[in-house]
Amino acid sequence: MKILLNNRSLIESLRPFNDLGFVPTMGGIHEGHLSLINKSNKLCKKTIVSIFVNPKQFNNKKDLISYPRNIKKDLQILKKCKKVDFVYLPKFKDIYKDTKKSKIKLLKKDKILCARFRKGHFEGVLDVMNRLTKIVCPKKIFMGEKDFQQLYLVKKLLERKYKTKIISCKTIRDKSNIALSSRNILLNKFNLKVAANVYKKLLNIKKNIKNKKNISNFLNLKKKELNDNYSIKIDYLELRNISNLKISNTMKNSKLFIAYHLNNVRLIDNL
Ligand code: AMP
Repeated sequence: MKILLNNRSLIESLRPFNDLGFVPTMGGIHEGHLSLINKSNKLCKKTIVSIFVNPKQFNNKKDLISYPRNIKKDLQILKKCKKVDFVYLPKFKDIYKDTKKSKIKLLKKDKILCARFRKGHFEGVLDVMNRLTKIVCPKKIFMGEKDFQQLYLVKKLLERKYKTKIISCKTIRDKSNIALSSRNILLNKFNLKVAANVYKKLLNIKKNIKNKKNISNFLNLKKKELNDNYSIKIDYLELRNISNLKISNTMKNSKLFIAYHLNNVRLIDNL
């Protein structure tokens, strides 16, 4: 596993390879990331993982400061899994050397779900993914369904602009079904119990949606119940079509999307 600390060493090391699988991350490596790496390892000749906490996608300074970082541990895990050929650890200037201001803007119809609550977040994500793709030139990029809206927007932008294909990967959960996330380390035992209960409730809500005439009213009611019973603050609880992310009135081709705050940590999930 070769560690690439700047763009020069990246370009030199990657030159011989054109069947490259890319797993972009912000570190805090967990089994979710490893599942992306496994898939890349199966589908591509070489796998490159990047670790870069992109300040431009944080709409909240406190969130950026408290974002878990542990490069030493991350590198140990990545080495141990024996499926990573390169780890790219760029500095801010490696990514943003090209100082041209990003022209990426979200369409009005995409300003939904997390985009409504995190102003500028996806513009930052799309900008960094655009820059990383230009630098790494991967054949395939592996991304998790846990961040479904991110996957949806990145796929829409990058597959139009580059030859790269975006490969979506299933959400990996812990034994109590909480979606793995680097942010989970910021939760205490009690919070983890609440998150596990919220998941159970969501499953139940999903099961009951089928019989409801007015789904949006039903979800508003459930949102209030969850807020009150678990002392969480839900940003949204919505049923949306997975092909276009429009509000859906049927379970067909749809998922339930949630974002909520628990102990000042913002969690998202979809099922
Ligand atoms: P992050 O480091 O949180 O920016 O995530 C890097 C990549 O890993 C993104 O494509 C995420 O969607 C994906 N990812 C994060 N958590 C999970 C998970 N629990 N299951 C599958 N993929 C995940």
